[in-house]
Amino acid sequence: MSSNHGDLPILPGATLGVLGGGQLGRMFVHAAQRMGYFTAVLDPDADSPAGRVSHHHIHTDYGDVDGLARLAGLADAVTTEFENVPAPSLEHLAVARPVAPAAPAIAIAQDRIAEKAHFGRCGVACAPYAAIETAAQLAAVEDRLLPGILKTARLGYDGKGQQRVRTHAELVDAWQATGCVPCVLEQLLPLDFECSVIVARGRDGQVVHFPPQRNLHRDGILAVTEVHPQNMPKTVAQAAITGAKNIANGLGYVGVLCVEFFVLADGSLVVNEMAPRPHNSGHYTMEACDVSQFELQVRTLAGLPLAMPRQHSPAVMLNLLGDLWFSAGDDTPVSPRWSEVLALPGAHLHLYGKIEPRRGRKMGHLTFTGADAGQVRAIASQVALLLGLPPVA
Ligand code: ATP
Ligand code: MG
Repeated sequence: MSSNHGDLPILPGATLGVLGGGQLGRMFVHAAQRMGYFTAVLDPDADSPAGRVSHHHIHTDYGDVDGLARLAGLADAVTTEFENVPAPSLEHLAVARPVAPAAPAIAIAQDRIAEKAHFGRCGVACAPYAAIETAAQLAAVEDRLLPGILKTARLGYDGKGQQRVRTHAELVDAWQATGCVPCVLEQLLPLDFECSVIVARGRDGQVVHFPPQRNLHRDGILAVTEVHPQNMPKTVAQAAITGAKNIANGLGYVGVLCVEFFVLADGSLVVNEMAPRPHNSGHYTMEACDVSQFELQVRTLAGLPLAMPRQHSPAVMLNLLGDLWFSAGDDTPVSPRWSEVLALPGAHLHLYGKIEPRRGRKMGHLTFTGADAGQVRAIASQVALLLGLPPVA
């Protein structure tokens, strides 16, 4: 690292910066502050969840040169919590400060076409797909990819930017509905279940990982994560860990990376996508592991040693969407029954400080920990019932 980047490790007492002020940034800020760092957040929203708890909050756009200069002036190193941050902003910051993950890795994760090409280079299989950037590529799509899911190559999250198509005619309409932006068409796979793995890779190439999570999505949004030794066959867990490490190593990645997988009926694994940051499916690490994904983000950014995390408790996480703040049939505001939830053993409530609940908006999550998986699942099921959520499958 050149001298204008200062010395590593960056020790507590220094200031760590983060681009993006959402809940992931907020939990990063909490982890950094707990370890004695000062924090700086850049986010255009004056009420952003991370900005409200940070020592410094710069509210400008992510591409604002003046805002970026202020961030570089305050922070000794900078990370991101949000993969749609413009890669040029990270490159700009990287001239002055260590930035992790680096702009090229984030640029790949921002583009499904580049991302799938990277998975292929790392020898990790993804769903059969075709890149659709031109009318000629659209016309050449093979029937074997149908029925399929058309996904915009950029800017999708929580299932947004996705359309299911059964026929070639539907595919044509769907691509036109995107405004003919670059897309991928993926074959619709019969999923047995979904899982993800979080790895952290240091500047020295050391890679550590958490045990793989089993994830349940509803309407394209993560709803439930379960992590205990019975959550998936050991061979599947091992293949997911190996795949995620290969993907991180192939990028020369520095930071926390989450890789999402589909598990098919025959037990085979295909990679779905990666997130170049801590992930919703890794929130359980805060209470169920001896080191959390956010602490590892701090350590990778600061150039501190990584330690292999140990999960000490089985865990189930439930996402809390804004729908919980409205009665089922109409839009009458209601208060979720937190007192009853918190009366149960091993319940950990996280709310992100978002002022306005909206349907589908991630407002917080609950993690349940306990002595054994059966007990933790039973309590999570009880709470799902209490909050009016569908049963924990
Ligand atoms: P996020 O970034 O929030 O994870 P996203 O908008 O990037 O979501 P994907 O992860 O691509 O979306 O897909 C969302 C969900 O849709 C998946 O978790 C899975 O349940 C389903 N899905 C996506 N692709 C396929 C596929 N090829 N076959 C079957 N199901 C799929
Ligand atoms: Mg996803």
